[in-house]
Amino acid sequence: MRKRNSLRKRKEAPGPAVKPLVFRVDESTPTVVQSVLLERGWDKFDHQRQGVEDWNLYWRTSPFQMAEHVNLKPWQRLNHHPGTTTLTRKDCLAKHLANMRKLYGKTLYEFTPLTFIMPDDYTKFVHKYFKEKRHLGTKPSYWICKPAELSRGRGIIIFSDIQDLVFNGTHVVQKYICNPLLVGRYKCDLRIYVCVTGFRPLTIYMYREGLVRFATEKFDLGNLQDCYSHLTNSSINKSGASYWKTKDVVGQGCKWTLSRFFSYLRKWDVDDLLLRQKINHMVILTVLAGAPSVPVAYNCFELFGFDILIDENLKPWLLEVNYSPALTVDCSTDVSVKRSLVHDIIELICLNGLRREERKGTRASSERARIPCARSNQHKHHTAPSPLSCVSLIQFTNRMCTKKKPAIQRAIDIRPKPTRTSQMREMMNRREAAKSNSRPRAWQMPHKVLSPYTPLAQSQFHKMKGTLGIFPEPNDHAGNFDLIFPFNEATFGASRNGLNVKRIIQELQKLMNKQLSSDKS
Ligand code: ADP
Repeated sequence: MRKRNSLRKRKEAPGPAVKPLVFRVDESTPTVVQSVLLERGWDKFDHQRQGVEDWNLYWRTSPFQMAEHVNLKPWQRLNHHPGTTTLTRKDCLAKHLANMRKLYGKTLYEFTPLTFIMPDDYTKFVHKYFKEKRHLGTKPSYWICKPAELSRGRGIIIFSDIQDLVFNGTHVVQKYICNPLLVGRYKCDLRIYVCVTGFRPLTIYMYREGLVRFATEKFDLGNLQDCYSHLTNSSINKSGASYWKTKDVVGQGCKWTLSRFFSYLRKWDVDDLLLRQKINHMVILTVLAGAPSVPVAYNCFELFGFDILIDENLKPWLLEVNYSPALTVDCSTDVSVKRSLVHDIIELICLNGLRREERKGTRASSERARIPCARSNQHKHHTAPSPLSCVSLIQFTNRMCTKKKPAIQRAIDIRPKPTRTSQMREMMNRREAAKSNSRPRAWQMPHKVLSPYTPLAQSQFHKMKGTLGIFPEPNDHAGNFDLIFPFNEATFGASRNGLNVKRIIQELQKLMNKQLSSDKS
């Protein structure tokens, strides 16, 4: 009896303490980010208690200074990459895309509406405007003018008469898509979340879930001044008179999840897979346009919000790319999408490793065994089972699976490796957090307490494989994030040392042609 007791005691004896991961915030950091990190067992950085370098993730809305990037320690991550506003300022994006059109042809880059940068392109715009007017005769043409640097629909005008065009400072004037796909006669656009975990080598993940944002008044070209009918920004529509009304098909509020939207389309026999493929290519082509001008930096990532409008012919149009896409939580749809999104971003940065920890943790990670999944059930996703947003990648991966070490795996290998240590620290601390508040505060991780770890992606992979037949290899995704670039051996090679955009475009074109011909047959 005494023997059994002493055995039990030995089993229950606490191992060396596991220190929580630490996050830093400022007043702009979204509340949902903080609450998710706390829920995952992270600690909020406190100047009083922690040393200046004792943090792992700094998340804020505005960019970081170059010096902050340069002085970053291997165990630290920033939620912004330097230079990415080159994709998110409307005028810069327009310039990059125009440049790509010149280099690689109009057909490939015809997913953005015709755009003029004001005041530089004013004469060109006037010329185009009158040319179109002559062509259309008495029929009106529609344009939209947007401030280059503002967001949330601020300062936007829609016009058909050039006399109504007024601007002060840098603006973009764009062809107004006047035949949007309407749901219950309401205009909508898609908010697609894209996380670039590195520009050298270029690594792009796309989120399967997202938001569909609705205008709250019926679409009416007869009234261009009605922002509730023409602009889909939720910051505008949540204050509209019809926000709380139960609107035809759309219902109350102004948001759907992306998965709800795609299942709605499926009811109308729309090939949502094809639509996702087009969006996937559009995202890669857009990031490629800006990537060469982004400086080299490590241990940071960028979450982009792509705004995409679908027209009545089911053609997706890129409207803009958002920096620090809104993570405010206004409704239940926001809660489900954004909380999971933040959870999955954290999964993604753990997957991409905290370098120093990884080096120290090699011994622990080599002893593999199963432990319970690091994610809590609270934020399980309600998306359709793998909508295969990265079909190209999946097809490629399947082919490569037969070889010894697929390019995708090697692409992952050259980035910081999956950090079982950081995932363990999260998990241990989540348990600890429940037990007691008196957690150790020191920074360094005692690696000998690490249990071997089976990545979440791997267990999901085995589960999904049977039901779907195809699914990406382990580590091709984290939560609902799918790796969409690199998507084959060649693109991996072309993005590894420097960025061979031409080569990548050739590969993408090949893939698009292949998909096009398989769709036709
Ligand atoms: P902001 O950064 O101010 O949100 P956007 O470019 O996203 O600017 O435009 C705001 C909204 O205006 C979009 O969500 C969309 O509803 C509408 N919009 C913008 N550009 C166009 C366009 N070219 N055609 C049709 N609608 C557009």
